[in-house]
Amino acid sequence: MVIDTARDKATLDATSVLTLKGVGEAMAVKLAGIGIHTLQDVLFHLPFRYQDRTRLAHVGRLSPGREAVINGEVVVSEVVSRRRRSLLVRIDDGTGAIMLRFFHFNQQQVRQFARGVRVQCFGEVRRGPGMLEMVHPEYRILRAGASGESALENTLTPFYPTTEGVQQPTLRRLTSQVLAQLDRHSLHEYLPANLIGKLGLPDLTSALHVVHRPPPGSDINALIEGVHPAHRRLALEELIAHRLGLRLLRVHTQAQLAPVIRPAGQLPRTLRSSLAFKLTKAQDRVLLDVLDDMGSGEPMLRLVQGDVGSGKTVVAALAAAQVVECGFQVALMAPTEILAEQHMLNFSEWFEPLGIGVAWLTGRLRAVQRRAAIEAVAMGHQRVIVGTHALFQKDVVFQNLGLAIIDEQHRFGVHQRLALRNKGTEGNTLPHQLIMTATPIPRTLAMTAYADLDASVIDELPPGRKPVTTVALDSSRRGEVVQRVGSAIDDGRQVYWVCTLIEESESMQAEAAEDTLDALRELLPRHRIALVHGRMKPRDKEAIMQAFKARDIDLLIATTVIEVGVDVPNASLMIIENAERLGLSQLHQLRGRVGRGSAQSSCILLYQGPLSGNARERLGILRETNDGFVIAEKDLSLRGAGEVLGTRQTGLAEFRIAQLGRDDDLLDEVSEIADQLLDSHPQSVQGLVRRWIGEERKDYGGV
Ligand code: ADP
Ligand code: MG
Repeated sequence: MVIDTARDKATLDATSVLTLKGVGEAMAVKLAGIGIHTLQDVLFHLPFRYQDRTRLAHVGRLSPGREAVINGEVVVSEVVSRRRRSLLVRIDDGTGAIMLRFFHFNQQQVRQFARGVRVQCFGEVRRGPGMLEMVHPEYRILRAGASGESALENTLTPFYPTTEGVQQPTLRRLTSQVLAQLDRHSLHEYLPANLIGKLGLPDLTSALHVVHRPPPGSDINALIEGVHPAHRRLALEELIAHRLGLRLLRVHTQAQLAPVIRPAGQLPRTLRSSLAFKLTKAQDRVLLDVLDDMGSGEPMLRLVQGDVGSGKTVVAALAAAQVVECGFQVALMAPTEILAEQHMLNFSEWFEPLGIGVAWLTGRLRAVQRRAAIEAVAMGHQRVIVGTHALFQKDVVFQNLGLAIIDEQHRFGVHQRLALRNKGTEGNTLPHQLIMTATPIPRTLAMTAYADLDASVIDELPPGRKPVTTVALDSSRRGEVVQRVGSAIDDGRQVYWVCTLIEESESMQAEAAEDTLDALRELLPRHRIALVHGRMKPRDKEAIMQAFKARDIDLLIATTVIEVGVDVPNASLMIIENAERLGLSQLHQLRGRVGRGSAQSSCILLYQGPLSGNARERLGILRETNDGFVIAEKDLSLRGAGEVLGTRQTGLAEFRIAQLGRDDDLLDEVSEIADQLLDSHPQSVQGLVRRWIGEERKDYGGV
């Protein structure tokens, strides 16, 4: 691909904010705190609301809840001291009257508002006791007769997200300066004018002017909601840039070599025949996709989606067996210790009878064990390695990594995904990558954040699974729930009780779980109850999980650490506390721990009432459906992508302007225009990626 390296002459993206008037070192540091380094960043820092001070409103036509500028004459002014001493000033503009109400005022103000004085006010209109009013409006006294001096703005007034030490007026001054420069140097227009015009969207420079300084009469609601054509123009460009970045990554990946993994070895055949079950059709199909990819000589980049319990692990294990048979190493990485341990147990059970040891590498290993593990991996004595993030660490070197398997992708970001891949890089040879996720990826994300991956779906559960019955109960009904737990155990079932807290802190969760343990032990004295949480030693955790699996424990109290991976078919009841605080996909994953055996399973979502409308709707969705895809789509639309994915960890959905959900309807155009740019305007591709993804994110921005 031809790549244009020529830059715009006076590049706003390469000019520091330090060149602006009023910005010194200290201010630059504060601005950097909100992601503003260059003049271009100033332009991409958009207002989140606007005020209309461009026109005078008629008092007689005001309605409550709106902000307005009015001019009028003082009719009455008095200080009253009913409940609270206040200054009341009644203003009339010939179309109607309104009351100004001040709780804090001085004598000078009382004198100012003499009868007949003309004032201009700006404020929010509210319903008062007898008439509409404005509480503490901004105001200025107008000189008699000089009606022309009433001051109106030429554009809507923007309000920016601020930060400590950077106030609204500062951000307005900075944007004014940069907008003036934009008029002289305008940003390079990368999107072909005919395409943008066809969509009825403005060019980049006009769009930036409009969002920062909307002309009078602009649709203020559309602006605030970010659906004004000017916003859509910016969002479109940003989404195109992200899609291009990932497409380039894909092109780059495909240009690399990968170990050729020939199918149909003895090892996978033996492993398959040792399984206690037959693969479902969907598992077989997905395994074939994977084996095809790995046989091609190009690096595989495949995402395997499959609802909780659909049996992704065994597909990964069969692929791994093939890779081991061909003489390469396999790494399996999971986001939490518990999940990694679960995989460790499964893989050991499957591989050890075949004479293949499974190495274990997590952050919690003692130094000696860690060194031994790392050495065995580097020397190639260990062919299968299971672990957590610890697998990325610098001193972990593989002898010849052939396949990297990543479970529960959404907890890792694009960057981590690439980091593990790069571990196996030798010259221009890359390992194959298999990414497994139970969190279905809605179309919006599939098209942007995952545009570099091929996807396969395990769309079938192993036979005999029964959908989990879900109910939501107010926590005041805890007593009944405890009774139900008792009788389930008496019927020979096992039960999970999940304690959640809004705080991410594992130690607070652990504390809450310990309180629950004490309380339930008192209420259910005959039953065997144990606790597992993330602060326990791995050995203790594992012992408890094993005991639960062996039915030596009836009731397992857990923090959300059991979210993924735990597999005990006899457990058929799950209680989740504070369910209203968790995301739908997380609840669905938790719930997926039950319903794995032959018994009808239930999940009780305990909530702290009263529920907000949104929370009620969310819990309702879980009651209605067991379909992870439906749940993920709803979750995304109710909460927004940033929250669903946890923007921090993922490195996805790190959009400055676009919002998945809100801007979904742009996605068809996004992929169409991205393809056209790749075909016919390669010089624009690099510019767009550089503008929106940046140089620092070389791993996928700057390939
Ligand atoms: P997930 O896709 O959620 O990771 P797992 O791989 O943990 O699911 O599988 C869930 C359970 O189903 C495990 O106990 C696994 O052994 C079992 N399993 C997987 N495939 C099948 C199958 N084809 N038939 C029956 N049980 C299966
Ligand atoms: Mg799994």
